[in-house]
Amino acid sequence: MAGMNVVGDLFGAGKMFLPQVVKSARVMKRAVAYLTPYIEAEKSGKGVGNRGKILLATVKGDVHDIGKNIVGVVLGCNNYEVIDLGVMVPADRILEAAIEYQADIIGLSGLITPSLDEMAHVAREMQRQNMRIPLLIGGATTSKTHTAIKVEPQYEHAPVVHVLDASRSVAVVSALLTQNEAEQTAFVRQIKLEYDQIRTARAGRQSAKAYLSLEAARRNKWTADWAHYTPQKPQLTGVQVFGHYPLNELIPYIDWTPFFQSWQLAGKYPDILEDSVVGAEAARLLADAREMLQETIAQDWLEARAVVGIFPANAVADDDLEIYTDENRTGVLTLLHHLRQQNQKAPGLPNFCLSDFIAPKETGVPDYIGAFAVTAGIGIEKQLKKFEGEHDDYRAILLKALADRLAEALAERMHERVRREFWGYASAEQLNPNQLITEAYRGIRPAPGYPACPEHTEKRTLWQLLEPERLGITLTESCAMYPAAAVSGWYFAHPDARYFGLGQIGRDQVENYARRKGMSIAEAERWLAPVLNYDV
Ligand code: SAH
Repeated sequence: MAGMNVVGDLFGAGKMFLPQVVKSARVMKRAVAYLTPYIEAEKSGKGVGNRGKILLATVKGDVHDIGKNIVGVVLGCNNYEVIDLGVMVPADRILEAAIEYQADIIGLSGLITPSLDEMAHVAREMQRQNMRIPLLIGGATTSKTHTAIKVEPQYEHAPVVHVLDASRSVAVVSALLTQNEAEQTAFVRQIKLEYDQIRTARAGRQSAKAYLSLEAARRNKWTADWAHYTPQKPQLTGVQVFGHYPLNELIPYIDWTPFFQSWQLAGKYPDILEDSVVGAEAARLLADAREMLQETIAQDWLEARAVVGIFPANAVADDDLEIYTDENRTGVLTLLHHLRQQNQKAPGLPNFCLSDFIAPKETGVPDYIGAFAVTAGIGIEKQLKKFEGEHDDYRAILLKALADRLAEALAERMHERVRREFWGYASAEQLNPNQLITEAYRGIRPAPGYPACPEHTEKRTLWQLLEPERLGITLTESCAMYPAAAVSGWYFAHPDARYFGLGQIGRDQVENYARRKGMSIAEAERWLAPVLNYDV
């Protein structure tokens, strides 16, 4: 236990890296598990040197937990008792558990946009139930700004603090729970002041940027020379399903750089292996990952599955795309809804919308759009349970990170096969793995929830088209994909199709979008919350 304090301190000081910390924690956990039957059970629930109880949960509708699990391990190393409720946890269960376990702090995690709203909801519930313990906010889409504007004002009884990553978690928790009142007061006052300033700055921001009306933005759309564009007719029509996709085939397609990021090791692969600071640790981690990859393949720990489809499509009014039942293009199968940039551009630059990359109906050009959903997470739960039983957080986190990488690799591989075989618009393409990672190919595969198409409910239309449930890939009520190691998106084939960020949009587009989607304006504003250029 004392040794773990050293580990915690070294990690806090940047002298030890996350994989080492998680492996040290494994040694401690196993030792404790071994000794427990021999130690007289401590009835108070407060173990030796226990500094407080932290309740962690990924909020309702969200499934991502690598970051949260890492925070849990790091806090555990620092003698905090961690109660981890897992993923997709509704507010009432979080509050009940906090009371039952007499938690000293609640920590919420989330990755996707709708989780931001859910976190504000948990804060409101804590206020309503008169709770008095601090609330921590963390996860990829969360930010200090969001915490200051949307969460903190909901809960007045105790501090609300945004925690950037695991390396910050101990400092924040220890400042909040310290017996030293002066230190605690100073920390809380500092946070409050900072969040106040963020709110004030936000209130004055409105006129800072210039926005076009939706109409003017549409007039400034991007357009191709459609008269001279002949789309490739796809080799594959309809939807094709792949079960038991060979994992071996995916290994060359793995992009390792994000793998190191998930372990908080900064740097690009393969250069990171030579890095003077993190190189040795990165190399050890990669060796462990490659070994586990071999085990995964040999023992069928994970199954990869994919579904792709290519459909006749044309752009129509209001930035929508019509998908047709067949080549006659008379029966409309479904409508896709896209959003257009509204910020004022420099002269000559268009206001992009993904629909611009598909030929408009009136051109008569018979264009197409593709869709895909893939996973590499089938079967992962069973293996994670086993690691849990062995007190092995290290291997559990490693397997999750690997499953994520394999899902991305499968997305890359399927995209390549679509270009070369199933659609066939680049049948002669020959790119090496590095060229694939840098996207040197023709066409894009934008993913709903990402910057060009940040609105997640379009995944429901994608699910109608491809029915990925058949493969065991489902959507939560917040449109997160389950298993977490899953990727989905659209294929655009036009040579000039490119990724962009939507940026912020105005009320006129939100109203227009709500009408197209058959949503109330309030509901559209909820799904579009991070991209609104006005406050609701
Ligand atoms: N090699 C990376 C690939 C994932 S990131 C990895 O293994 O993690 C790149 C993917 O993110 C793209 O293929 C696309 O699906 C999505 N993406 C990136 N930028 C986007 C944008 N601006 N809009 C929509 N999707 C985007």
